[in-house]
Formats: sequence, C-alpha cells, structure tokens
Amino acid sequence: MKELYYLHRIVILCLCFILTLKAQPSPESKFIFRVSQKNLQKNVRELVKLGNRLGGTISGDKSAQYIFKKFKSFGFKPIIISDPKKLVYSNESWQLKVVQPKRLGGLIQHEWLAGYSPSGRKDSAHLTFVGSIEDIDTRRINGGAVLMDRNPSEKMYTEIADAGASCIICYQSDFQNAHSAWAVITSLEETNQNKIPLFNISNNSGRVLLEELEKGTQIVVKFSAKTQIRRMNPKTVIAELKGKTDEYYIVCAHGDSDSGGPGADDNASGVSAVLEIARVLKTMVKNKQLGLPEKSIKFIVWGTEEHSSSSFVKRNMNNLEKIAGVINIDQVGYGKPRRCIYFEGNDIPHNYELLKCMEQTGEDYAGKKGFWRESTTAPYQGGTDTFAFLPENMNNIDKPDIEIPSVTIFVSAWNEPKSMRQTPGWFSKAWKGHPDSVNINYSPYYHSSLDIPALTTDKQPANMVWGVNVAGISLIRLLWQ
Ligand SMILES: [Zn+2]
Repeated sequence: MKELYYLHRIVILCLCFILTLKAQPSPESKFIFRVSQKNLQKNVRELVKLGNRLGGTISGDKSAQYIFKKFKSFGFKPIIISDPKKLVYSNESWQLKVVQPKRLGGLIQHEWLAGYSPSGRKDSAHLTFVGSIEDIDTRRINGGAVLMDRNPSEKMYTEIADAGASCIICYQSDFQNAHSAWAVITSLEETNQNKIPLFNISNNSGRVLLEELEKGTQIVVKFSAKTQIRRMNPKTVIAELKGKTDEYYIVCAHGDSDSGGPGADDNASGVSAVLEIARVLKTMVKNKQLGLPEKSIKFIVWGTEEHSSSSFVKRNMNNLEKIAGVINIDQVGYGKPRRCIYFEGNDIPHNYELLKCMEQTGEDYAGKKGFWRESTTAPYQGGTDTFAFLPENMNNIDKPDIEIPSVTIFVSAWNEPKSMRQTPGWFSKAWKGHPDSVNINYSPYYHSSLDIPALTTDKQPANMVWGVNVAGISLIRLLWQ
C-alpha cells in the first residue's frame, strides 16, 4: 500500500515536471524574443554615417572601431586584425554640375565618383557624347568632358583620356528601370595611374543630356574630385563565443560597402545582423538561458570583401579543419518582389547538413507572424566571402581535402530579378514558386548611390530580423541540442 502511495506521488511529480518544461519557452523562442529590430536599424544608420567603410580607408577604420566597441559592450573580448595591404581608394569629395545652359543647373543629382578616380581640380568643360571608339577620332575632345551611355572598357577609357578629355560622365542605358533616378556605381581599373575622373550619373539625367546634345545645345559642366589612392591594411574584427571545444563556426559579413556607395543593404545590413546574433547569443549564455555551445562561434566582420576572408583562410592554413562551418550574411536589408529569405550554396555537396538545418528552420517558421513568407536554398552565385572557403580556394592553397561547409544568407542579390535552375534534390516546402527554379529577389538600389537606410533597411526592417532569426535558430539547433 505504502509503495503504491509513493509511486502515485512520483507519477504526479513527473507530470508536474513535464508540464513545467512545456510551459517554459524554448531557447528558440527566447532568442526570437530578444532580437531587436530597433538595434538592427540603428546600427545600419550609424555605419552608413561613417562613409563607404572601404577596408584600409579612414572610414573603414572607423567602422572597425565601431564594431569593436559594440562587441565589447556585449561582453566579448574582440580583436582587430590588420589584413595584408591592398590598394584602396578614398573619394573624399566631388562635385558635378551643369553650368550652361542654366535651365539644366539642377539636372544632375545623386551622382557618384567611380572608384580609383584620380583627383581633378575644379574645372569647366564642354560636354561631348562618345558612343564608340570611332567617335573619339571624329570629335574634338581635347579638354572637354565626355558623356557615355555605358561604362567604358579599360581600352576605351584609356583612349578617351589620351585624347585629352578632362573627365567622363557615364550613365547605364542598359539598366533603364532599376536605376532611372540614381547612379549605378562603377569602378575604374584598380590602379593609381588612372588619368581622369569618371562620374556616374542616373539614367534619367544621362538621357536628358544626350537629347540636348543631339539637339545641338552647347552644354558646359563644372566638376571637381578629391581622392586618395594608397596601399593600406583593411581591418577585420573578430569576437569569439567560447564553446566546449575549439572547433568553431564562423558567422560573418563583409564590413565594406564593396560598391563604394553608401551600402546600407550591401552590406551594413549583414554587419548589423552579425552584431545582433552575437549580442543575443552572448546574453543568453550569460543569463544561463543557454549553456556553453558544443563548438565555439567566431563572429567576424571582414575589412574588405573576399580579400580579408581569403587572408583569414591563408593565415589559418594549418588549422582549417577546426572550422565546422561558415554562415555568411550579405544583403539582408531589402528585396523584392518575394517576401523570401535564401540560403545559398546547395550545389556544393559538403554544404548539405548545414543547409538542411537552415532549410528546416525556414520551413518551420515560414508564414508565422513576423517571419518570411517563403524560404529556399539556392545554388551558389559567386562574389561574396563564402568564396574563400570553397573547394576551389582550398585547391589554390593546396588543401584540397579540407571541406568547409560555407553558406550565405540573403534576401536579394542583383539589381534585376534573376531565375536560376534549382539544384536537383533541393526543393523546400517553404518555396511557393516552380520546384525546378529559384527566382532570386533583387534590389533596385543594388550598388547605387541610393542604397541608403531610408530606401532599404528602414523600408523593410523585418528582413534583417529574418536574417538574424534564421542564423540564430539554426545555430541553436546545431550547437545546443
Ligand atoms: Zn555584398
């Protein structure tokens, strides 16, 4: 009888315990609850205020200091790494204005100086349109400014400069819809030997200038450019959340605006997301809402996209097997037309487990309040920091046997919508499009002079929260369960 009484009590206690467990919010809910959209937006605004944050420039150094201080305030002991020197440009100031005829005085707006443009004194020049190499011979360019309807090739740029032009003013007629009111930002050859500055202007302004020239209007522009081109060291910031082993995941974003523009979406949004994931996980470990992770996590903001991640790989060449995986965050600020988050790299077989985990997170939360409507994995598109960890790079450094899962989270990629063939076998339940293709979201502000918070991250602030949640929840699943 007594035994039965005790058994009865034990059963009741167990039931109570199970009920308490059920009532407790899960670590995932606690993580989601702590993510602050306000923090995410504020960090983007602060970073954009620092300039284009190109690695090795004063703006880049200030950005590294900002990130360092943020990590420190979360309780980390961050370090700043000085990456190998590279030739970097700093566009300190510029001006471009139509001074004749006066009625076109306000025409040029949101113009942007191309990367690696040399300085040019304040100067006035007659404008001439150059559409092809033949034009250079037939038109008197000497001392004049040249209008072009597309970015010049290196050869064309050299010929125009050698013909005595004082500057080139360029718009991109092939991006008519995406960039009608703002300038696509381009770059000259990566050298300090370029002879004349190149200004990028909007498609709308460019077309008006061309129409006026064709009507025979005499146009005079006034311009100046003050730039510096030097070999400098980009700065990379690293903060580590120690785990039970020294094997580690990397959660990273490129800290520079690689286009040289304001770069709110590309990539202050990614940097801000890395900071927020770091802040929330560190707080949860500190408050014992989470124990020590199974593996460590290194939060990294690269000084210069690809250059800094590649030099990290080279620096750690003898310990690469300690990297359990890389989660890179690039452009989580603005995307249309789908309310979709993408996980890139499903064409690389050894990304399977990491991407499956993220795909599952995507499916579990799709359609819930505050979350993405759709999510999917996607093939690799190139051009970001995952490159440094890809098999081809391992071959380059003679470590072909090392396979590091390396994926990128994004909500948009280019300046126009693109469709890719889905990698066979990868169909997410959270994808509402055709199962054989992935329609990649775009941002009309991609690499433009108006990739600013007001038009991107402050317009769709939920996107950054998605990026933080998908990475944070997947990390909790990988490292705490
Ligand atoms: Zn980017």
